[in-house]
Amino acid sequence: MIKVLANDGISPEGESALKAAGFDIITENVSQDQLIDNINSNDIAALLVRSATTVREDLINACPGLKLIGRGGVGMDNIDVEYARGKGIEVINTPASSSQSVAELVFGHIFSLARSINSSNAKMPTVGDTEFKALKKAYGKGVELRGRQIGIIGFGRIGQSVAKYALGCGMSVVAYDPYMDSADITLQIAGADDVTVTIKTTDFDSLIATSDVITFHVPMPADGKPLINTAEMEKMKDGAILINAARGGVINEADLIAALDSGKIGGAGLDVFENEPTPRMDLVGHSKVSATPHIGAATGEAQARIGTELAEKISAFFN
Ligand code: NAD
Repeated sequence: MIKVLANDGISPEGESALKAAGFDIITENVSQDQLIDNINSNDIAALLVRSATTVREDLINACPGLKLIGRGGVGMDNIDVEYARGKGIEVINTPASSSQSVAELVFGHIFSLARSINSSNAKMPTVGDTEFKALKKAYGKGVELRGRQIGIIGFGRIGQSVAKYALGCGMSVVAYDPYMDSADITLQIAGADDVTVTIKTTDFDSLIATSDVITFHVPMPADGKPLINTAEMEKMKDGAILINAARGGVINEADLIAALDSGKIGGAGLDVFENEPTPRMDLVGHSKVSATPHIGAATGEAQARIGTELAEKISAFFN
């Protein structure tokens, strides 16, 4: 029986599909320093990870029986992918499974910031009589999204999914992606015909200068440098909202705090951070920040799809 170690867990749907296909699936978490010994002593042929376990050259060299490495999710920064492939190991991920969940979280942050729900939630549990009126005044300056412009930087799977929600809210959508000229966005509307809107990509400078909300759906740049620093924020509309559910470090965090303090940037919705799992407290605790702990893909639906997609790809590979 081929043995699969799902070291960072796998959804019940994925586990059942692998068992039904005749694999021996082990879901206990093995610590990073015990992993090589565990893989070799248990004859593990496939190692599945999410973002916690790292699969570097040393492990790849030390585990000659390993035939497949699977990443449940998109980013494979925690795996030495090219090195593994060079050694003949199959490396797979599940890029499409979580796009919708990430897009919905993005809109959670946008709605939260547009109506101060994040700050209000933090203050309301201890509100007193007089403070209620003060908070009502402070948080009573909300904005509607309809008619506003969203700028989507990175127009791949998640960026396009975000565009659907934006169109549904009546926002105008502009997108920047150096590798794409246009994309057809199809809205499936319950009880009505599908509607397809073609969005042509625009240039970076005009997107950041004209958008009310700017959201990032790019991989981390290869040079590791932020795409957005003070210079870029200076070109944005006063009070613009920034959303980062891509990778921590796409927006320069120190520059962002300064721009939030000055009022240049009106709010930031952040699911990812430069220094995970210990993000800056002056960022996540900032009154103009809506923060979540990297949960973009963490819905039951996305995890079920990830597990099922992994199981299908593993079965196809070994059969
Ligand atoms: P994707 O590959 O489908 O799309 C990324 C797009 O970015 C591509 O179209 C590419 O051409 C474009 N791009 C690359 N460099 C660019 C640049 N400098 N400027 C503008 N566009 C650029 O990827 P995806 O599935 O949409 O994922 C996007 C990001 O979301 C990734 O960084 C991924 O790691 C992250 N992600 C986060 C979560 C979460 O939990 N928050 C979950 C899944 C994915």
